[in-house]
Amino acid sequence: MGDGLEQLRARLGPEMVRLHAPLALEGFEVAATVEPPDEAALAAALRELAGLGLATLVLGGGSRVTLGRPPERLDVVLRTARLAGIPELDAEEGVARVRAGTPLVELAGAARREGLEVPLEGPEPGSTVGGALAAGGTGPRLLSTGPPRRWVLGITAVLGDGLVARCGARVVKNVTGYDLARLYQGSLGTLAVVAEAWIRLRALPELRIGLRGLARDVEGALSLAALLARRPSARVAAVCAGGSGPPELLAELAGDAVVVEADRRWLEEQLPGLAPDPEVVQACWLEAHGPGPGEGAGTGREPAGAPGGEPAPLRLRGVVRTSRVGELVRALLARGARLRAHPGTGVIDAALRVPEEAAARAAVGELRRLARQAGGSLRLESGPADLRRSLDVLGVPAEVLDLMRAVKRRFDPHRVLAPGRIAEGL
Ligand SMILES: Cc1cc2nc3c(=O)[nH]c(=O)nc-3n(C[C@H](O)[C@H](O)[C@H](O)COP(=O)(O)OP(=O)(O)OC[C@H]3O[C@@H](n4cnc5c(N)ncnc54)[C@H](O)[C@@H]3O)c2cc1C
Repeated sequence: MGDGLEQLRARLGPEMVRLHAPLALEGFEVAATVEPPDEAALAAALRELAGLGLATLVLGGGSRVTLGRPPERLDVVLRTARLAGIPELDAEEGVARVRAGTPLVELAGAARREGLEVPLEGPEPGSTVGGALAAGGTGPRLLSTGPPRRWVLGITAVLGDGLVARCGARVVKNVTGYDLARLYQGSLGTLAVVAEAWIRLRALPELRIGLRGLARDVEGALSLAALLARRPSARVAAVCAGGSGPPELLAELAGDAVVVEADRRWLEEQLPGLAPDPEVVQACWLEAHGPGPGEGAGTGREPAGAPGGEPAPLRLRGVVRTSRVGELVRALLARGARLRAHPGTGVIDAALRVPEEAAARAAVGELRRLARQAGGSLRLESGPADLRRSLDVLGVPAEVLDLMRAVKRRFDPHRVLAPGRIAEGL
């Protein structure tokens, strides 16, 4: 494969292709990084990668790079870092055209200067717009933002064979035909590389406050969070539980100051002793995932285990009916998980330490069965590459696999974009 990498560099130039010491990634040693500076270069890169049959992993900020199964093959990392910038931000219309490699914090900063906010979330300073869209990931503010697709007006993407496909633009309802922009979201870089997107922004709230407080027990905390989620200013209504301390309620309230203050008073009556915490969203990530959510962010290293050689925890996301959150929470806590539950949306993020692979497989199977019974699903968000390779990590329904394979064949005919990421053969 060394020859293929040399050819790639010869065709695209050393400016775009860096050959380096092997980097451990998803169980492979990757010795080449491609960093296209613009959309045309990205298209050229994908044409060459496809022609040479080099399997490629797209890397934004690297915070969710172990989402899905490890690819079947991996030769090259394609970083979007140079595909960055905000060519247009129209404050009056509340829309921005932004390149995929732009860090979300940068877009948020530009929007804030115009009195606007970005309803996409990134847990790491390096998290990118493209990564957030390709992961389709949602954070603790899901309650108030909904999924990322709600805010995406259009996407320009480059398919696995180098074809540039534009879909949608700055105005709502600008899509004719199939809304391909939705297809890329959650596709984990397996169909196309997102080059840029039109994102809808919204007005900054007049007041935003973060609060946290200790609850007496998990059931009480879940009930309170469910009530809180119905308050008009609730953006985050989460319960963190597991570990040694008592369960904790995390809240973010935002909106008109009078509404926020009224909700704050209501919450303080329900749970005296709340403390302000402006970093409550970040805390949500840490509580569920432990320190270092993106260990190796930007390099895509495997998540590290605890000091002393303990394996890294399995990170699970369950989504169940809001009325059934308690069932999955109890099952997770019984297995010693640390978790963050959002009774208002039914999302539960958990970190679970399991001593060895067979036990991990059994735990995922059992928890998934429970999640299905509770009207939802459960996926393994990260864990050792070997385990993720041998499991149906995302829980894709078997009846749609053939259809998905046909889509993959059309969008990435040479199967160079993270082959096998979504499910075996995809
Ligand atoms: C507190 C908090 C908690 C969150 N929890 C979760 C969570 O549990 N699960 C979750 O999914 N999200 C979660 N999110 C959302 C998460 O922030 C986004 O998924 C994240 O921003 C990804 O950005 P990244 O640049 O680090 O992506 P990366 O890790 O670089 O990439 C993510 C995936 O997208 C692909 N990709 C990256 N860039 C592109 C591109 N331009 N084109 C095509 N494919 C690309 C990668 O190959 C990879 O499969 C959370 C956010 C917050 C704030």
